[in-house]
Amino acid sequence: MIGSVESGRKRPVRSPLRWIGGAAKEVVAQTLGAVGIPAIYRRRRREQLAILMFHGVEGAPIEPPCGYVTDAATLRRELEYVRGHFTVIPLDEALERLRDGTLPDRAAALTFDDGTRNLATHAGPVLRELGLPASVFLATGPMGTGEALWPDRLFLAFASTTVPEVDLTAVGLGVCSLRDDADRSRIRDAAVECFKRLPDAERLIRVDSLVSTLGPAPSAGPFEMLSWDDARGLARDGLVDLYPHSVTHPILSRCSDEKIHREISGSCLAVERETGHAPEIFAYPNGGPDDFDDRARDALHRNGVRWSLATTNGFADRDSDPLALPRIGIGSNLSFAMFRLKVSGFAPPRRGFRAAASKLKPIPARGVSV
Ligand SMILES: [Zn+2]
Repeated sequence: MIGSVESGRKRPVRSPLRWIGGAAKEVVAQTLGAVGIPAIYRRRRREQLAILMFHGVEGAPIEPPCGYVTDAATLRRELEYVRGHFTVIPLDEALERLRDGTLPDRAAALTFDDGTRNLATHAGPVLRELGLPASVFLATGPMGTGEALWPDRLFLAFASTTVPEVDLTAVGLGVCSLRDDADRSRIRDAAVECFKRLPDAERLIRVDSLVSTLGPAPSAGPFEMLSWDDARGLARDGLVDLYPHSVTHPILSRCSDEKIHREISGSCLAVERETGHAPEIFAYPNGGPDDFDDRARDALHRNGVRWSLATTNGFADRDSDPLALPRIGIGSNLSFAMFRLKVSGFAPPRRGFRAAASKLKPIPARGVSV
């Protein structure tokens, strides 16, 4: 999800453990946790704002695993940790206080992107139990329709297909075997990443074509979206705020001017119509530094949006661009030890470590991110 950072922008927080694989990484993470590294980094970053990013939450881990759908028990454990070690405040208050320089120490805000229905059934109860405020960013187009967003349609199609191979030569992947779970997972991730780089109109055609080839899944399952009644119910007790996240979750920088306007304006107007509040915060679909541009920023300004969240990994501070605020993405494949390090802002302390690490072969990213 997170691509290279454009020159001149603040460097994202990148874990030095990103070069170490599997079990070794976990041992290192647990050791660093045991010697108090998370506390040291939280102290260092106490004047910054941690905006955590989650996506869907199911009652139990899903099969095949999805890097951005967690389960309620994991979410509860992670949020208990956040509640115990950070000052969690509503996102709008956090951004106002970030601007005014009045943030409490170790401030954090919780966000959930996309607006799947399981946020009402599984995330909401955890938030209420722990008394934590959160913001849900809604892709408004498929709400209440039973349809899933396009990356999720691909996830479902790859998960349920019985096709032994698929020809993805047109996007540079060749003829790909789909004979086992590992093949399907790897090709799905590669295809989604390729599709994200296509012009929007071509992406739409290729997604439909690939889903048709693989055989559409019978239902949206964990990717079914909230209806507006569900969303208002989730927000009813005041702990959850609702904000726009586009209409159909395209990569805005790949869209025409007209579609950028339609995606931003359409989702902002839908949130205002359904909640009675004109939204001043937006979250870019996909949200990498190459996924939005000045045309999107202009459209946000025209719609009265003051802050927009990206997915560049990092903490926000007073120098952060208000229309490209970094977040800390929490994937479902994160161990608790890694979670503690990541949410605390553990980052490379020395250039030497990074130089040495850069000579090692990188581990391919896991999971699809949206
Ligand atoms: Zn999203």
